[in-house]
Amino acid sequence: MEKIKMPVPIAELDGDEMTHVLWGMIKDTLIKPFVDLNTEYYDLSLPHREETADAVTAQAAEAIKRLKIGVKCATITPNLQRQDEYGLTQLWKSPNATIRAALDGTVFRAPILLKRVKPVVTCWEKPVTIARHAYGDLYKAVEYRVPGAGKAELVFTDESGRELSRQTVFDFKGPGVVQAMHNRDASILSFARCCFTYALSVGQDVWFGAKDTISKDYDQTFKLLFQQVYDEEFKAAFEQAGLHYRYALIDDIAAKVLRSKGGIVWACKNYDGDVMSDLVAAASGSLPMMTSVLVSPDGCFEYEAAHGTVTRHYYKYLKGEKTSTNPMATIFAWSGAFKKRGELDNLPELVHFGEALEAASLQTLNEGIMTKDLCGLAEGITPTAVDSEGFIKAIRERLEAKLA
Ligand code: NAP
Ligand code: MG
Repeated sequence: MEKIKMPVPIAELDGDEMTHVLWGMIKDTLIKPFVDLNTEYYDLSLPHREETADAVTAQAAEAIKRLKIGVKCATITPNLQRQDEYGLTQLWKSPNATIRAALDGTVFRAPILLKRVKPVVTCWEKPVTIARHAYGDLYKAVEYRVPGAGKAELVFTDESGRELSRQTVFDFKGPGVVQAMHNRDASILSFARCCFTYALSVGQDVWFGAKDTISKDYDQTFKLLFQQVYDEEFKAAFEQAGLHYRYALIDDIAAKVLRSKGGIVWACKNYDGDVMSDLVAAASGSLPMMTSVLVSPDGCFEYEAAHGTVTRHYYKYLKGEKTSTNPMATIFAWSGAFKKRGELDNLPELVHFGEALEAASLQTLNEGIMTKDLCGLAEGITPTAVDSEGFIKAIRERLEAKLA
């Protein structure tokens, strides 16, 4: 069989520990036999980040911007224990945070759904994707523990020092608490663009909820800016694709998502997204089955697994033990990148390969061949637990049949 060509490369960001081991297995067994793999390779393993004083992370982010598509392996975010373990000169920043900042991007998380593992919310036929606005609000708030009677005020002074606004927050008669938070139009506009861009790319509606009835300036600004971006930049494309944008109050949206069939991109303000992403993840799947895509407002896509480097399994692997680590989210990161590269470069064969890889992986699980983490969740079938290598080999057989 002739290998599928990819004239334009994707940025490949390798990583750490057990996911790095899976990375090699996936490439050797599921990709390279079928695709003339063309990547710009960046080694984001912790030792190499240390060696390059983390310059490699910035280079990788630049490559994603230039090539429009990246695929990333999980990486260690160092803490003090890791600093000892790896002899680091400093606690390097999380690569994900660096790349997200460089791309001004938003992270979209969606579970891989299986016929054999029912979501807790039984009406969800398709995944609910959560988009969390990862800037401002509570996470950059200023707070004060009020010790006793006194007045709290909110004051805004412009650049020239002129006071434009002074409002009493509360006249305290005794102890209490006070908080001030902010957001920026530029950040909200980028977030809205990322949400509409991603939704178009997966052919799903966007739902956004805030509390504009109560928060007449703050949440109202989010509502108006989302509507502005939609009307001016995306309405025509959405209508052409038969897609919709819906704004409603956050409580109304939460209730409607629960009764929906799924297949929605749910745009959330920062705190809502923090809570809802864990809630939706727990309701629809397990951590090893959660995928993640970072999308920039100008349409760059970085695909990865939502889980980490699975350290506990890696230590077993180092002792020579076989582990049953689930490679699904990492496989889907690769298939997502191939499908997007094929779509952008008009390469139907590459799109088809991405689809076949996903179908072969799902078929393997639906036939009951599973990594240990899924065996306990399977319904209507007696699963066979396999190690990572056995699982990937089983996918390979089915993939060959699909591509033959
Ligand atoms: P983790 O690697 O996601 O693993 C936590 C636990 O979840 C594992 O011990 C395992 O449970 C289960 N699990 C996760 N992925 C699995 C998979 N593919 N197959 C089977 N089981 C899986 O989180 P962590 O242990 O908190 O973090 C480890 C390292 O990853 C840290 O250094 C952290 O900085 C990094 N991290 C990176 C990213 C990223 O790059 N995106 C994200 C999160 C964490 P059992 O042990 O019960 O089998
Ligand atoms: Mg959370």
